[in-house]
Amino acid sequence: MKKRILLLAGGQSGEHEVSLRSARSVLRALPRDQFDVTPVVISPQGRWLPPGDTQRALETGEAQRGGDLVLHRAASAEGYDAVFPLLHGPMGEDGTIQGLLTLAGIPFVGSGVLGSAVSMDKVMTKQVLASAGIPQVAWRLAVRREWHDRPEEVCDRAHELGYPLFVKPANLGSSVGISKVNHPGELERALDLAFSLDRRVILEAVAAHKPRELEVGILGNDAPIASPVGELRFEADFYDYETKYTEGRATMHIPAPLPGEIAERVRTLALTAFRALDCAGLARVDFFYDERTGDLLLNEVNTMPGFTTTSMYPKLFEAAGLSYSELVTRLVELALEKR
Ligand code: ATP
Ligand code: MG
Ligand code: MG
Ligand code: MG
Repeated sequence: MKKRILLLAGGQSGEHEVSLRSARSVLRALPRDQFDVTPVVISPQGRWLPPGDTQRALETGEAQRGGDLVLHRAASAEGYDAVFPLLHGPMGEDGTIQGLLTLAGIPFVGSGVLGSAVSMDKVMTKQVLASAGIPQVAWRLAVRREWHDRPEEVCDRAHELGYPLFVKPANLGSSVGISKVNHPGELERALDLAFSLDRRVILEAVAAHKPRELEVGILGNDAPIASPVGELRFEADFYDYETKYTEGRATMHIPAPLPGEIAERVRTLALTAFRALDCAGLARVDFFYDERTGDLLLNEVNTMPGFTTTSMYPKLFEAAGLSYSELVTRLVELALEKR
């Protein structure tokens, strides 16, 4: 019997468009002799689009207005064997959809409520990983109310970290809302931007002047495996949205040219983080590596990483001998095994 899969894409976050691209690739790759796949695009307004509108959204990369409220449509998700929530960022990668699916009793690809929520929030991630002994940059939390009522306190926290520093919405991705702040004069604008997108903002010391950026894929539930380590190289000051999504701005190197012991350390730290955060199915764990000092710092854990055929996560497992379509098949199997 073919498995009936509901593929959710789009969503309400700033990564709507990226999710549609990933979904197009996954739709093409799920073997049709094993799976009956129904895509549903969630509009930026949070409405679940009917089949015709979903098809148009996938083709044009732009969702129409209309559609059903989530609870209404989720009730009819009863007939599916598993859901692939290919959604990035808030209301998708953060435990909200995972909670809905858990309540509905439908198996789904990826981390559950806890792993998704904790990994999405960069501050919670840092706290949990610190208690697991994982090396990370120095950081401070600020919430919107503090920025409005006592801005000088928030600025003091930044000054403590020193410049340059990074300012980021705590719960986003694709570098949306992230600024590198080179001196105190640039701080206000960076904080205004980050707080326009999130109630919680993280201030981070820089990992190094220009750290190498390493990424590793994790696959599995309670016995996860790590992929080879990949590296991203680019000219830009940091890996911002344009660099991520403009063809030719960044290059992927798999495996990353690294001493064997560093690559092994990346893989071990990533597996430790995956377990500490109670992740499941998949995650892409990102690191900073300073060649001069040998410092290796964990940057973040993405529980639903970019998933086009040219994205890092599938490329990492391709290098490990798992084709894109074998990988998505494995992810669905892991979803069904999870309970
Ligand atoms: P993703 O799309 O991978 O989910 P994201 O939006 O969650 O990314 P980060 O990975 O936290 O954002 O940061 C984006 C980029 O900014 C990093 O890849 C790196 O180039 C730069 N960066 C972020 N934090 C630091 C830091 N503390 N030190 C140096 N560079 C940093
Ligand atoms: Mg991220
Ligand atoms: Mg992300
Ligand atoms: Mg990142």
